[in-house]
Amino acid sequence: MKFTDFNLKDTIMAAVTEAGFTEPSPVQKDAIPLVLEGHDMIAQAQTGTGKTAAFGLPIMSMMKGDGSVEGLVIVPTRELAMQVSDELYRFGKNAGLRTATVYGGTPYGKQIERIKQASIVVATPGRLQDLLMSGKIKINPNFVVLDEADEMLDMGFLDEIKNIFTFLPKQRQTLMFSATMPNAIRKLAEQILNDPKTVSI
Ligand code: AMP
Repeated sequence: MKFTDFNLKDTIMAAVTEAGFTEPSPVQKDAIPLVLEGHDMIAQAQTGTGKTAAFGLPIMSMMKGDGSVEGLVIVPTRELAMQVSDELYRFGKNAGLRTATVYGGTPYGKQIERIKQASIVVATPGRLQDLLMSGKIKINPNFVVLDEADEMLDMGFLDEIKNIFTFLPKQRQTLMFSATMPNAIRKLAEQILNDPKTVSI
């Protein structure tokens, strides 16, 4: 299977070629078609398996680039936020899709300005909840990704995550990635995913 088999948008395919990706990784082979078909998904995949591209390429391929925040990616740590943002920036730049990175411990102003110009927001739970509850930002992403969900629960972010979802549109496509599938993850999946497909590699 090749990347050209997925029917990704030309600008996104150009970024795949630019990144030097020749063959899709196993999680990409399974996930990309399901995401492009519009399904919610729960995927068991470890770091380093290419999961960022597994969700990033298909959701970016479906984005309109109308200047609104169309995608939200929630990640456990600032380091992961920066890493995921870097990768998504590379995939989206030819398509004119901007990325904003949101995490705690830095001033609000610049982050809020970046969010206003972004198609995709990559955020840690604490600062994101803060921005939403205070009304500093209003977003209506139709694509929502929880990355390293088990890590977020281990760090005690369950309440923040549940609260964040109360601010998100009901009509959305939601994708969840987790390295492990304990009961707490399955329960959260039941609450936020709608008839999800399962991917396990
Ligand atoms: P991730 O699991 O998303 O953190 O990705 C791990 C690394 O693999 C990143 O540096 C990606 O740029 C790279 N990568 C992702 N997909 C592919 C692919 N299909 N071919 C080669 N490298 C890839």
